[in-house]
Amino acid sequence: MEVAVLGGGREVGRLAILVKSRGKSFLLDYGLMFNDKVSYPGHVKPGELVGVALTHAHLDHSGALPLIYGSANPPKLYTTPLTLELSMLLIADFLNITRDYVPFEMGEVERMASKTVPTSLNDEFEAGDFVVRVRNAGHIPGSTMFMIEADGKTILYTGDFNTIETRLVEGARAPGRHVDLLVIEATYAGVEHPPRRELEKQFVERVATVVENRGVVLIPAFSVGRAQEILCILEKYDLPYPTYLDGMAREVAGILLQYPNFINEYQLLRSAIERVKYVTSRRERKRVVEKPGVIVSPAGMLKGGPAAFYMNRIAFNPKNAVFLVSYQLPNTPGRLLLDKGVWISGGSVKMVEATVEWFDFSSHGGHSEIVQFVDEVKPEKVLLVHGEGDKVDILASDLLEKGYEVVVGRNGVAVEL
Ligand SMILES: [Zn+2]
Ligand SMILES: [Zn+2]
Repeated sequence: MEVAVLGGGREVGRLAILVKSRGKSFLLDYGLMFNDKVSYPGHVKPGELVGVALTHAHLDHSGALPLIYGSANPPKLYTTPLTLELSMLLIADFLNITRDYVPFEMGEVERMASKTVPTSLNDEFEAGDFVVRVRNAGHIPGSTMFMIEADGKTILYTGDFNTIETRLVEGARAPGRHVDLLVIEATYAGVEHPPRRELEKQFVERVATVVENRGVVLIPAFSVGRAQEILCILEKYDLPYPTYLDGMAREVAGILLQYPNFINEYQLLRSAIERVKYVTSRRERKRVVEKPGVIVSPAGMLKGGPAAFYMNRIAFNPKNAVFLVSYQLPNTPGRLLLDKGVWISGGSVKMVEATVEWFDFSSHGGHSEIVQFVDEVKPEKVLLVHGEGDKVDILASDLLEKGYEVVVGRNGVAVEL
């Protein structure tokens, strides 16, 4: 068996792992990188694929899949129905907003949907000589890991995973079977997350303080997962303030409610969504930002979306606050705001007077969780992907010291089993 990294080697983005056995291949994820420009993983021949499995909806795992569904006789796609629905929404949005040339259209996305075999957690299926087992990944609703067996060897591919329980999803667990090769993400290698419950309390207290002082709290959040997780936390602590949800996060909230099996605290999500008010017009946007309250809106890194509109209105009043709740990539407005305290508005750089704080609500395990997961799986070999180069190296040396055989994934390079 051979496992090739086609994307996601020493980088966070365009994940693609190709498993080959006896001349046949099975593809795990086929994502894209979408920063300033769009980049794709290495090429695959759709005719050689006996199947494709998608771990979760984020574009860095799903975005390039339509390329495979433009071919004459494309393979089946195995994924959860929730992941399919969210992926289609994200890919359609990507096609709308990107200015780059994209070598596919919605036709291929529809074709992908028509070739999908829906899976659920703990399913097992066969594709050619490959036996595939599905497990919860704990990352976002609908997310899974895959165990693939062929030629007497077993690999476990985590996709993005989190062993810490959140309001939306249960934590991931090691599958309790022998694993020859563990292909594991390393986004937060070298970084530790604070204890979740304490972080929630701290966050809620800060929100309350700002609103009690008659300020507006803007919470820029990703449309899929993070925005709804934040609503669940505000609901759990029963904050009595007007709370608003804007952007694509509204549509995603509606989709999540249709999949109770994939939600950890479903009733909490349900009451959170019943309580929150949807902002649907520019006029409403102008109105809600004038009164004390909480606004949850994409984009999570303030790269456009309604959050950028709100930022222009609230940034220059010290009563207000911006609470960032996710990782801010370098060169994004969110990162600039955190590092330098500035906001670029109408072409000029301005100092922000509102309070700016960052809360580490991650949907990936931190360094300790990754190492602990490896210890629980006890694989023969570890292949590290989905991490920035220097962080992956920290994790690699940590695992080497513990006696594991470790390979740092590189694009275009395969591991033999
Ligand atoms: Zn993800
Ligand atoms: Zn990812």
